[in-house]
Amino acid sequence: MNTKAAQDNRSAAQVAVRLSGIRVVLINTTHPGNIGASARAMKVMGLRQLHLVTPKTFPDAEATAMASGADDLLQHAVVHESLEAAVDGCSLVLGTSARLRSLPMPQMDVRMAAASALAEHQDQGIAILFGRERYGLTNDEIQRCHQLVHIDTNPAYGSLNLAQAVQVVCYELRMAALGEAGISVPPLDWEPVDAGQMELFFTHLEQTLLDIEFLNPEQPKRLLMRLRRLFNRARPDQNEINILRGILAASQRVAGKHDK
Ligand code: SAH
Repeated sequence: MNTKAAQDNRSAAQVAVRLSGIRVVLINTTHPGNIGASARAMKVMGLRQLHLVTPKTFPDAEATAMASGADDLLQHAVVHESLEAAVDGCSLVLGTSARLRSLPMPQMDVRMAAASALAEHQDQGIAILFGRERYGLTNDEIQRCHQLVHIDTNPAYGSLNLAQAVQVVCYELRMAALGEAGISVPPLDWEPVDAGQMELFFTHLEQTLLDIEFLNPEQPKRLLMRLRRLFNRARPDQNEINILRGILAASQRVAGKHDK
């Protein structure tokens, strides 16, 4: 093999490794054709991990037909009953969204998001969530994301077909993995905890805020949404989560004493 071919081969292998930790998570998809077309969109860009949360119809002949030569991704697709299970073990969860929300989460352009995701998370899992054809991601699902990712579009008509959105995102991830996005982002020098640990923390936080009577049990949602946004932005590591949970446990103990 000549040097040029060896180099091309090596970089192809490196790109494959860099993309191998990324999961595409399709939530509650209605049209099986979109699942197949998403598998195809992934495979041509070198992504392989397809996760489906409560798809309406799967497996399905239309999914297989639309996947074309990517039916191996469909065969290995993992079907989940909950989003929690689909993001288990991932330390970065990105949600894709066509529109800005009333309580905006940090929203990044897809090119920047792809570059920073690959820079930050070389070895840990990355999950990228795609919403339903009709109404995208729910607020609850968005609150599980560290960031929202947006594909810039015509402001008057900004909603892409689901599989086409998957295509654009996977293309940008590939460009970032090739180092051709022209954006260089320094890697994180700490290791954020995974999505499951963050959920345990949020459950503990909610319970503590109820125990210390800070949270109004009639209307807990808005405050919790803001707190989730704050802590998701901070990307705490294991040590920091331990400290935060220690503070919560201590507050609960004191609140318990006050009750007596
Ligand atoms: N009416 C829905 C559109 C759903 S389109 C909404 O406004 O959210 C299905 C999915 O494709 C979306 O949930 C999102 O995951 C993805 N998508 C579509 N257009 C997008 C865009 N401009 N940027 C990022 N993701 C997009």
